Amino acid sequence: MSFSFKVKRTIPQALGRNGVIATPHGEIKTPAFIPVGTKATVKAALPDSIEDLGAQAVLANAYHLYLQPGPETLDAAGGLGKFMNWNRPTFTDSGGFQVMSLGVGFKKVIDMNGDSLNSDDLIVEKRERLAHVDDDGVTFKSHLDGSMHRFSPEVSMQVQHQIGADIIFAFDELTTLHNTRKYQEESLERTRLWAIRCLDEHKRLTESRSHRPYQALFGVLQGAQYEDLRRKAAKDLGEMESSGIAFDGFGIGGALDKSKLGTIVGWAVDELPVNKPRHLLGIGEPADLFAGVENGADTFDCVAPTREARTSAVYSPTGRFNVSGGSYRKDFSPIDSECTCYTCKNYTRAYLNHLFRAKEILGPTLATIHNVHFIVNLVERMRLAIESGDFFEFKKEFLGRYKNSN
Ligand SMILES: [Zn+2]
Repeated sequence: MSFSFKVKRTIPQALGRNGVIATPHGEIKTPAFIPVGTKATVKAALPDSIEDLGAQAVLANAYHLYLQPGPETLDAAGGLGKFMNWNRPTFTDSGGFQVMSLGVGFKKVIDMNGDSLNSDDLIVEKRERLAHVDDDGVTFKSHLDGSMHRFSPEVSMQVQHQIGADIIFAFDELTTLHNTRKYQEESLERTRLWAIRCLDEHKRLTESRSHRPYQALFGVLQGAQYEDLRRKAAKDLGEMESSGIAFDGFGIGGALDKSKLGTIVGWAVDELPVNKPRHLLGIGEPADLFAGVENGADTFDCVAPTREARTSAVYSPTGRFNVSGGSYRKDFSPIDSECTCYTCKNYTRAYLNHLFRAKEILGPTLATIHNVHFIVNLVERMRLAIESGDFFEFKKEFLGRYKNSN
């Protein structure tokens, strides 16, 4: 087995730390932002570019790869990394989020602004529910061709073993901030029982596929906005053992009220073992990354930097702006004069403005390289600030300039 995690330094008077995750495909220095390559590609960017900009790993999605091209293709290719020519560590998320969010027809669970949402905003109206949860698993309709499929904890483990990422996640049920307290309790218990089944199936697959590199399994903590449920989930999964094994790390997932993000992460981290890594699922905005790191999350993933890039929204130290806007037509400065990425070293705002207006494919590519570099580099600077004991100074300086565009 070649998976380990070592804590190096902690943030004084806080739960955060830096450290190193070791996987069969190399190390991840934490805290780290992991770019999303949903379908085994970080959209619009070459794997070489993603490596050059400093990314240490990529995260793909089991649901999407299960439907297309199918996990048996990735298995035959020798696993996700080989298939996509990415020689560094890889993650897959379990597919639970997509099975339920695409199937139930949530509009944007990812926004997770608890204050502004009501159930009418959240559920797509008059749409057939495409996913049905029972105690054994989830039956869902493919968003591609309408075919029926079923995911259970065992199926998710089998699919993720065939895909072959270094770090995989247990199958969990996604809830929203608007489910009733009673439903959250039932769902949390279902996710707990599924976690045991994931450990059992993971153990069986690890033994039967011993010719393949070891895959680390992270349990996923739900519990929405409730302190007692978040703490219970962390304690249950933190202590859980089945078939003689425990989780290698933990994912903090589900409905997260972003205004309380740091507090919610802190509840979970309080209860989790210190010597195992914690991944905060689906979080990638600068202020949220600071809150996550401060409260003890080690790795992060989010589609925002790549998705925003494709709509010409780019990050800068003062906030995000739309480079296709009229005022950048003759602006021959880089997106961010402090940035060291390939795009900022070689191209101007005016050129990107032209590419986006002309709908040239290179526009999304250059913007993706910059945005992913910006966020990867921001978390890398947090890591260095923890190392030098300056985390809070760095946080104050960065967020003092950065205007949230949400
Ligand atoms: Zn740049």
